[in-house]
Order: sequence, then C-alpha cells, then structure tokens
Amino acid sequence: MNDNDFKTPPNFIRNIIEEDLKTGKYGGRVHTRFPPEPNGYLHIGHAKSICLNFSLASDYDGLCNLRFDDTNPTKEEDEYVESIKEDIKWLGFDWGDRLYYASDYFDQFYEYAIRLIKAGKAYVDDLSADEIREYRGTLTKPGKDSPYRNRSEKENLDLFNLMREGEFADGSRVLRAKIDMASPNLNMRDPVMYRILHEKHNRTGDKWCIYPMYDFTHGQSDSIEGITHSICTLEFEDHRPLYDWFIKELDIYHPQQVEFARLNLSYTVMSKRKLLELVEGGYVSGWDDPRMPTISGLRRRGFTPRSIRNFCERIGLAKRDSMIDMALLEHCVREDLNKIAPRVMVVLRPLRVVIDNYPEGQVEELEAINNPEDPDMGTRKIPFSRVIYIEQDDFQEDPPKKFYRLAPGREVRLRYAYFIKCVDVVRDQKTGEVIELHCTYDPDTKGGSATDERRVKATLHWVSAEHSLDAEVRLYDYLLLKEDPMGEKDEADFKHLLNPNSLEILRSCHVEPGLRGAAPGSRYQFERQGYFCVDNIDSSNDLLVFNRTVSLRDTWARIQKAGKGKD
Ligand code: ATP
Ligand code: MG
Repeated sequence: MNDNDFKTPPNFIRNIIEEDLKTGKYGGRVHTRFPPEPNGYLHIGHAKSICLNFSLASDYDGLCNLRFDDTNPTKEEDEYVESIKEDIKWLGFDWGDRLYYASDYFDQFYEYAIRLIKAGKAYVDDLSADEIREYRGTLTKPGKDSPYRNRSEKENLDLFNLMREGEFADGSRVLRAKIDMASPNLNMRDPVMYRILHEKHNRTGDKWCIYPMYDFTHGQSDSIEGITHSICTLEFEDHRPLYDWFIKELDIYHPQQVEFARLNLSYTVMSKRKLLELVEGGYVSGWDDPRMPTISGLRRRGFTPRSIRNFCERIGLAKRDSMIDMALLEHCVREDLNKIAPRVMVVLRPLRVVIDNYPEGQVEELEAINNPEDPDMGTRKIPFSRVIYIEQDDFQEDPPKKFYRLAPGREVRLRYAYFIKCVDVVRDQKTGEVIELHCTYDPDTKGGSATDERRVKATLHWVSAEHSLDAEVRLYDYLLLKEDPMGEKDEADFKHLLNPNSLEILRSCHVEPGLRGAAPGSRYQFERQGYFCVDNIDSSNDLLVFNRTVSLRDTWARIQKAGKGKD
C-alpha cells in the first residue's frame, strides 16, 4: 500500500514481529493471512483485520494469504466468497496467487486425525451433543470422561472410517481430541475435531459427510501454508492452548497465534449472524444497504477505500475490547472527500423563488469553483435564470435571532450569482404554507460581491428551475438508536433498537445540470449539505439517485475540541 497517508505507527504486534525478525525465529520471514469464513459479507471489523494482515506483510516484505475457512457447508455460499474477494480488492489489497481454501486441505486434515487416533490422542465418541455438553462440566466444575473415551485404536479407526463412509446419521458420533476433562480451560476438555454432516459443500460437493471443526482446521491450515504470525481476535485467546496442542501433537510446523481486540463501532452491530438477520428479515435492502457496516454497504454509501484504511490505521491496535465512535469513521471519509470531491449545488427541499426584475427568458452562465481545496480541479459554468430553487429552510418568515438567511425584506447572496432581496411571500391558500418567494436582484453584485461594500450575512446555494435535473436523494442516519447495543441485557434480540429514521428519501430534489449522466459511484460535495454519491444500483439516466455518505457537520472534530476524545 503506497498511497496510504501515514506510516503505520508502532503497535504490540509489530513489536512481536520485530523481535522475531531479530532472533531469526522464522528465518526472517513474515507471512500472515486473512481467514474469513464465507458465511456472510465482510464488515468494517474485517477491514481492520484485512488492513492489519496485509500491511504487516507489505511493511516487512512478507506475504499475506487469503484463505477461506470453509468448514461449515450449511452456512457457506459462493456468493459470499465472491463478495469477500471483491471487497478485499476494493480496499486496495492483493493476495497475488495466494488464494487458499481450508477445504483444499480436507484430505490432509483427515490424515492428521488418523495420526492422532493412532497416537492415542483422539477417539470416536457416541455421546449426543447434549450429553457432551453435560459431561464437559463448567468453569467451577471439572468435566467427566465419556464412557467411550478409552476405545481401542482399532475400534476408533474403524468407527472414524465408517463416519467418513456415511454409515452414521448427523450428530450420532463425533471425533474428539483426548486431552484433559479436568482442564481449567474448557476448550481443552476433549474438544470435538470432526462432526458428521450430510451436507453438500460448495467446493468439495458430496465428497465428505464429516467436516473438521474450526479449531481442528485453523492452526493446521496456518501450518500447511507456513504462516508465521496467525493474527486473530481476542476471543481466540482461550483457544490458543488448543491451537498449540494440535500442532505439537502432530509435530508439524508451528506458527505463532497473536490476539488483538476486535473493532466495535457505536450505533451498529457487527456480527455476521446479526447482519444476516437484518438482511433476511427485510430490515435493510440487502448486505449492501448503505446503512450496513459492511464494506459493500459503505462502498455503496460513498466511502472511499482510503478513508477506511485510514480509519483502521487511526484506531490502532489494542489488547482490550473497546468501542470506537462512529463519528471517527465519518471524520475519516469527510477528510478524504474534502480533498477529492467536486462541489456542486443541489437543492434537497425546494422552495421556488421568482426574481421579479430579472429579464424573462435571459440565461447567464456563471463561473463556479469545482473544489476550493484543489485549484487543479478548475471551474465550471452554471446557468442562472429568473426562476430558481433555494432550500426551504433557508427562508423564515419570522426569523429568530441569529437566523441570518433569507427573510422578508432581507438581502442575501446567491453563491456565484447575485444578491437578492425578498419582497413578497406567496402562500398556499388552503394550508398557509409558503410556496413561493418573490425577490429582486441587484445586477451590480454579479459574482457575489457588491461594488458599494454592502454586506450580507448569508450565502445560499440554489439551482435554476428550468435547467436543473430532478433527483432522488437518500439520507441515512445511524442504524441503531443505541450507542452500545451490545451493552443491552437483551442483546439476543437487538431489533427493537433499530432506528426508525435511519433512512429518509427525498424525491423532489433539484441538481445542477452538469450532473447529467453522472456515473454510478461518483462522489460530490453538495454545497452546505454534505458528501453524496450516485447510487450504483438505482440511479439511471432518467432519474439520478444519490446517497448521502456523510453530512458536513463534523462531530468528531467537535469532540476533539471539547477535549473528550482521543485521536
Ligand atoms: P463475526 O463475529 O462478525 O461474525 P467472524 O469472526 O465470525 O465475524 P470471520 O470470517 O471468522 O468472521 O473473520 C475473519 C477474520 O476477521 C478473523 O481473523 C476475525 O478475527 C477477524 N474479525 C472478525 N470480526 C472482527 C472485528 N470486529 N474486528 C477485527 N477483526 C475481526
Ligand atoms: Mg468466525
């Protein structure tokens, strides 16, 4: 990654790697991997892991594999595999020719299992899942040995073979590691290595009806691929002794597992199971709904890959779980878009304004700056005419103190155009609602400044009614009402926390004519409103559809100023 804005700061994983490089532990190699289970779309938490694994590899001239941990055929699908590949590429990372699947190692795992049986380290157990749970004991109570624990090697080999041959029903038998039913670590109490699952696998088809468990897959896959640092999230810390045990008993190459704190983000949920619930329950339009914390959702919302990478850098690495403020993610995309997004004028909630003294039929092309942050982006022409739209909330009939925008008798500036003064207000006869304003303009203020040094306190954006294009604009708010949804007692059902106003659709917006034919995915700053992108699915030449990526209000910067947060 060379277009990253800042150099990776030191962190505890880099320290471990640097120490290993010094002592020559892996012969100077750094080889990481990103190991998703293809049972859902990737979310921003995965982005943290992707950035970490791929940047460590590139920073230390190492390699990073993409490996699908596809051991659960009931939940895995090709669609997920494809979306994961697309998301990683979009983030800007490249696994080269190192695309692997745990399922490619099924034969090898089977052989490993036989090896452990022969060494007296694994046995076939006939207990049911419930009985296994019961026999396992608790944190305060040691477990009990299964009555099948001391089967002979031959019986175990025969039964395991019959399991593979499909002789037994799902759930009737498992292969377990023979470790210690009294271990203080529950993961070490004879964990299950293989279960029976008569289920077609998206890659191996019907070849297998027994599938290895995650714990019997992960470390061995790392080992086969020669991974040096197997980086995972904290919940696997208690699994590390088991990871090490399998590798030691099999006497195979031993990578080092290192744990870091997973990313939690405020006002959203991050587990794939919960996100799937939202998709299946129709609470969102799909995995790529712009309210979702998925990478595809963020992409559709208008986030740039760089903003996500910067966010992942900035939150750093910790060994303790914490909650990151959504405002920081928004700050990161604002920072990026500020530099690259062309400015345009769009009226979201239109109020018609007739400029009485502007000649009917006259059109002027006014010059507007595309991006004040980047003069190289040049200028464009925008048409001005007698009837324009401004934003409804830029006018108040009875302006309160500190409301400096348009009001009866008051003069304001139209950006890049003229000063206008409100001379009359037209109301809907039935509702009393203001439906049109009449204004006069001062021809001597062209470009936005008066020759007589006269000042106005507000500058409004506008579009020419006749020339503007219709558009639909979708405004998004937080998916959940609660900052820390998982802090809720009833976290199992979080759906009562869904924000009913997370999506607002505005259907009568007007955009300046230069946006005709804007390509799906293009990003703009709508002046005074925020950053928006052309929806890559619903937008068409007939009707432009925009998603609001983020508003201009930077709550993160405010938090910083107030000295509450840390950056
Ligand atoms: P989820 O809990 O959201 O369903 P998962 O851990 O089951 O995710 P995997 O596909 O197994 O999803 O994850 C692939 C990699 O991404 C793992 O190494 C995992 O530790 C890491 N990862 C998952 N969620 C996060 C997160 N919130 N923050 C950082 N890394 C994460
Ligand atoms: Mg997982």
